[in-house]
Amino acid sequence: MLLPLMCALLTNSDAGSGIEQVDPKRLEATVRRLASFQTRNTLSPGLKEACEWLASEYRSIPGLKVEIWEYTLPAGRRVPHEMPAYEVVATLTGKTDRTVLIGGHIDSLNLQADPATGRAPGANDDASGVAVALECARLMAGRSWSQTIKFVAFSGEEQGLLGSTALAKRAKAENWKLEAVLSNDTVGSSSNKAGQKDTKHVRVFSEEGTDHNSRELARYIDWEARQTVKGFGVKLVFRRDRFGRGGDHTPFVEQGFSAVRFVETHEEYTRQHTPDDLPEFMDFKHLANVARVNLSALSGLAQAGPAPTEVRVVRDQSHDTSLAWKGDKDTDYMVYWRETTSPVWQGWVNVGKATKARIDKVNKDDHVFAVGAIGGVPSEAK
Ligand SMILES: [Zn+2]
Repeated sequence: MLLPLMCALLTNSDAGSGIEQVDPKRLEATVRRLASFQTRNTLSPGLKEACEWLASEYRSIPGLKVEIWEYTLPAGRRVPHEMPAYEVVATLTGKTDRTVLIGGHIDSLNLQADPATGRAPGANDDASGVAVALECARLMAGRSWSQTIKFVAFSGEEQGLLGSTALAKRAKAENWKLEAVLSNDTVGSSSNKAGQKDTKHVRVFSEEGTDHNSRELARYIDWEARQTVKGFGVKLVFRRDRFGRGGDHTPFVEQGFSAVRFVETHEEYTRQHTPDDLPEFMDFKHLANVARVNLSALSGLAQAGPAPTEVRVVRDQSHDTSLAWKGDKDTDYMVYWRETTSPVWQGWVNVGKATKARIDKVNKDDHVFAVGAIGGVPSEAK
């Protein structure tokens, strides 16, 4: 096992991640306000009311363009007839139209009650994810970013990912240059009723594919958290989602975007989709740590230069490994490596504006290599 190399990092001079300013009290206030609506079920008037409240919160943040987007819910299993629905899209315009997106779903569900009127607080599922996105917006606004950042509250999640499906299709149709999607869904508790507890990790689910880079995005989120978040990190799960269940990242993956899902390690299934999904069963220190992981990744991604292309391992017989790639003249690059059996990056070195590098005494037969723009998702060397 290689020890991780400690390298001179990387905290970009004009844009640190601001994770020390993440505020558990502010996250709690957002969750409590959202949970105070009788219901935010997509089929209820509460959805639009909650979207209007959230949009006003986003509008109070300088520099954000805020949209309550109306789309059409198709009739289906939990939708009796076609009807309009709403979601919130707040945009912080960057220097480029390269885009990163963070979101959670604002809609709630109580399976035991009438969708339009029954009490559905949805505090953890998923006011927690909505609160994480809002907190990131508050801490990223007022600074200059290379990428455009979209903060989204999805809806129709509980009816079959309908809002994220509509938005992913819109992103594709409008040719958004979407480089990463971070979906947070049920991220606000560290323990369950079975006595399991993990205050140190949030799970990140990702899948592998040929037309997106979701797995590498997940690996990058883990790496960035290890650099910047103290005492809390990521548990990577190499699956699309939990067993038999879905999330708002998947419609984006299906449109060819790189997208992952954050979810707490020990869910309490008996509270989900019931009137018991309440703030008092949450852990706001935990939620703050999840927000820190998101903010560290988002801050890196939002200031990264373009990804290198044609990243390759030089085919020589040597004890060292040489790499070459095509890069951007204004972008600094990082070379990463890991053993073939390691899920996470074990070594890395900042090589500045080089377009080639030699890693001494690290054997290409035993390791996977990648190169990324500083803060960006690495591309595996072939
Ligand atoms: Zn959910």
